[in-house]
Amino acid sequence: MQDAAQIHEALSELSALLSYLRQPKFKIMAYERAAETVATLGPELATFVEQDRLRELPGIGSAISAQIQELYNTGSSQLLERLRSDAPAGAAELVRVPGLTPRRIQALSDALGVRSLDELLTACREGRVRSVRGFGAKTEQQLLEAGERWLQRSLSQPPAPLLLSRALEVAEQLLSPLARAGLRASIAGALRRGEETPPSLELVVASRLEEALDPLRSARGVLRIDAAEQVVYLAERRTAKVFFTPPERWGNALFTATGDEAHVAAVTARAHARGVTLSAQAFETEHELYGAAELPFVPPELRGGLLSLEASAAQAGDLVDIASIQGMVHCHTTFSDGKHSVLEMAQAAHALGMRYITITDHSPSAHYAGGVSVDTLYRQWEEIAAAQEQVPVRILRGVESDILRDGSLDYPDEVLSQLDVVIASIHARHRLNREEMTARLRRALSLPLFKIWGHGLGRILNHREPIDCDVTAVLDALAESRGAIELNADPHRLDLPPRWIPEAVARGIPFVVSVDAHSVHGFDVLRYGVTMARRGGLRRSQVLNTLTADEFIARVRPFPELRSVT
Ligand SMILES: [Zn+2]
Ligand SMILES: [Zn+2]
Repeated sequence: MQDAAQIHEALSELSALLSYLRQPKFKIMAYERAAETVATLGPELATFVEQDRLRELPGIGSAISAQIQELYNTGSSQLLERLRSDAPAGAAELVRVPGLTPRRIQALSDALGVRSLDELLTACREGRVRSVRGFGAKTEQQLLEAGERWLQRSLSQPPAPLLLSRALEVAEQLLSPLARAGLRASIAGALRRGEETPPSLELVVASRLEEALDPLRSARGVLRIDAAEQVVYLAERRTAKVFFTPPERWGNALFTATGDEAHVAAVTARAHARGVTLSAQAFETEHELYGAAELPFVPPELRGGLLSLEASAAQAGDLVDIASIQGMVHCHTTFSDGKHSVLEMAQAAHALGMRYITITDHSPSAHYAGGVSVDTLYRQWEEIAAAQEQVPVRILRGVESDILRDGSLDYPDEVLSQLDVVIASIHARHRLNREEMTARLRRALSLPLFKIWGHGLGRILNHREPIDCDVTAVLDALAESRGAIELNADPHRLDLPPRWIPEAVARGIPFVVSVDAHSVHGFDVLRYGVTMARRGGLRRSQVLNTLTADEFIARVRPFPELRSVT
C-alpha cells in the first residue's frame, strides 16, 4: 500500500509528464489539483480508497480515481510507466523549472545527456549548455538562475516528518544498492531507535566516501549528493546524512550515530568509570562496546530515554519480538469497513503463522464505518462458525465498541458477555475538554468487564493531535478495573504513544500489540507495533497476544464469570 505522500508525488509526476508531452492544459491541471487534494487528505486517503469514495472528492473523476486506486494498491500505474517511457529520464523534474520547455529538455538530453536538475546545473556552470544548438550564453545563465531558485524554493520549507514505515522504505532504497556493491551499511539515529516520526534519516557505511558514491547515486529517489557535507538529497525534499567509518570501528560508529545523546553519554561515562575510553578504542561490534562498559547489548529501541540505562540493561534480553506474537488482534471485515471476509482474514493470519485472530468490527454508533447492529453481529457469529470449519487458526468473536460521549459502551452486557474479546475505542468527539475526556475514559475503562483500550489517544500522526486527557488518571482507573492497553500498530497511529508504556507497566496493566487491520494487507504493520512495545521495554510476558489461544481467551474474556452462550 502506498501512502498519501507517495501518491501525491506520483500524481505530480503524471502532471509534469503530461505537460512535457504537451497534453491539453485541463488534463495537466486536473492531475495537479488531484495531487494537492491527496496531500491534503493525508492518512484519510485510505478511507476514501478502501470505501471506493474517491469520486466524492472535488475535481476527482473516474479516470483519476482509477489512477489513485492503482497507485494505492500496486505502487505504480500503467499510465505513469508509459509516460515515463515516452519522455527522457528526468523530464518530470526538469519540466517544472521555468524556461525549460519540452523541446529544450529533449535537446539537452540528446546533446549533453542531461537527466536531472542537478546535471542541468552542472552543465550550466561548466558552460556546456551554450554549446547546444538553440541555446546561448544568456539562456544558459537564465536556466542556471531559474534552476537554483527552484531548488531553493523546494528546499526552503521542510516537509512534514516521515512516518516510521515510510522512512524505513526510503532508507531501504539507499541501503540496497550499497549492499549490492558489497558495502556494509545500516540505518542509525531515530529511525533505528524506532521513533514514530524520525526527524531525520541517518546511515552508517563501513567504507570510504568514494566507494559509496556510485551505489548511492544509483539509488531510487536520490536527486544529488553533497559529498563535502555527506548529505544525500532525496525526492520529496528529504535528505539523509551518511556517516562513513573504517570497518574496524563499525561498533563505535553505529553506537554513536544511533544515539540518543543521553544514552551515548551514559554508556560512555559508565565505561570511563571502568577505565575504558570508548572513543580511544576500536570496537568492531556494538556488543563488544557495550561489553567494555559491562553492559549487555542494549537494543536500539531502548536507547531513546524512555527507560533508565539500568532498566534498559535489565530488560534487554527478554524484550517482546515479532516471533513471539501468536495472535492477530483487532481485525475488521466486510461486516464493517474492512475489505476482506472473516474467512479471508483468518486464512491470511494462518498463512503468517498465527494461532488466533480476533474479529472486532465496529459497533452500531460508528455508522460512518458501517457499525454492526446486534442482529448483524449474530449473523457474523454464524459466519465465524462456518469459517472456523475451514481453518486451523482460532477465530475469536469480538467487537471494537465505541466509547460513547458519556463513557458507556455500545452493546448491552448480554451481548458483550457472549464475546471473547472487547476493544473499547473513541471514534468521535475527540475534542472534549480535558476534564470531560478524562471522566469519559475513566468511566469506560472502569466498567466491570475486561476491555482493551483501543488506540488510546486517538492521534493520527502528522494529522490529528492526541485527545486532551489526564493520562495518568485514566491509567489509574484501568489499573483498578480489568483491562489491557492496545499498542495500535497502524503506522499512522502508533497509539498509545510508547512514552506512556512505563507508566502503565508501573500500574501492572498488560498490553496487546494490535494490527487494526482493514484488509489482509493490514497485517503487515505488526512490526511497527512490536517496535513501540520494545521502546517501552515490554517483556513477552507483558504482551497478552504472545499467549496461546486458550490462555489469551482466559485472560481477555469480558465476563469470565459467565459462560458464553454458544
Ligand atoms: Zn478504531
Ligand atoms: Zn479498528
